[in-house]
Amino acid sequence: MVPQEHKKKALPKPKEAQDQKDYQPETDEDSSIMKIESLPLMLLVSDNNGNPQYKDIDQLPFTVQTELEKRFEKYRTTSDNKIKVFRRLINNPTTYIDRPYCVCDQLARGLIIKRGGEPIPNQKFELGGKLGARADDKCVKDNIPCTHLINHKGSYALCFVPLPRSVRKGSSWNSLGHWVLN
Ligand SMILES: [Zn+2]
Repeated sequence: MVPQEHKKKALPKPKEAQDQKDYQPETDEDSSIMKIESLPLMLLVSDNNGNPQYKDIDQLPFTVQTELEKRFEKYRTTSDNKIKVFRRLINNPTTYIDRPYCVCDQLARGLIIKRGGEPIPNQKFELGGKLGARADDKCVKDNIPCTHLINHKGSYALCFVPLPRSVRKGSSWNSLGHWVLN
């Protein structure tokens, strides 16, 4: 006899059962649109002594977290090529982690690092800061969170880095203005 509980819709189902639902399956491309795939999201912040440390993104107020994720998602899904390139990047982190570009820039360039035999110039930091520590000028201008691939305690993650101090308007790390201008 089937136990009563198995008939209740609210019970969590095993993955195999979920995959057989009528409105499934989504393709990989579809499911990539509204959520960041595979890697956890982190933040680079400074502790009380000014030393860099990483925090989980869910330590931000929900509205700030949602807005930053939304902007990154929108950027990385602006073309089929960016979606493909992003997937390649997060599935091969050892290949791409040490490249001197942020993830946004790598997506914009389709992971190409040389053009005409010459390395593509590094990102500009005329507003201040440096690669991996502060947002580069292009991410600042584009109003997207500058994002880096990191290895934190043995696991790969995507990490948002703050705006350079010169444009930050003194806001604390848990406000939107710490990460994007507008
Ligand atoms: Zn950037």
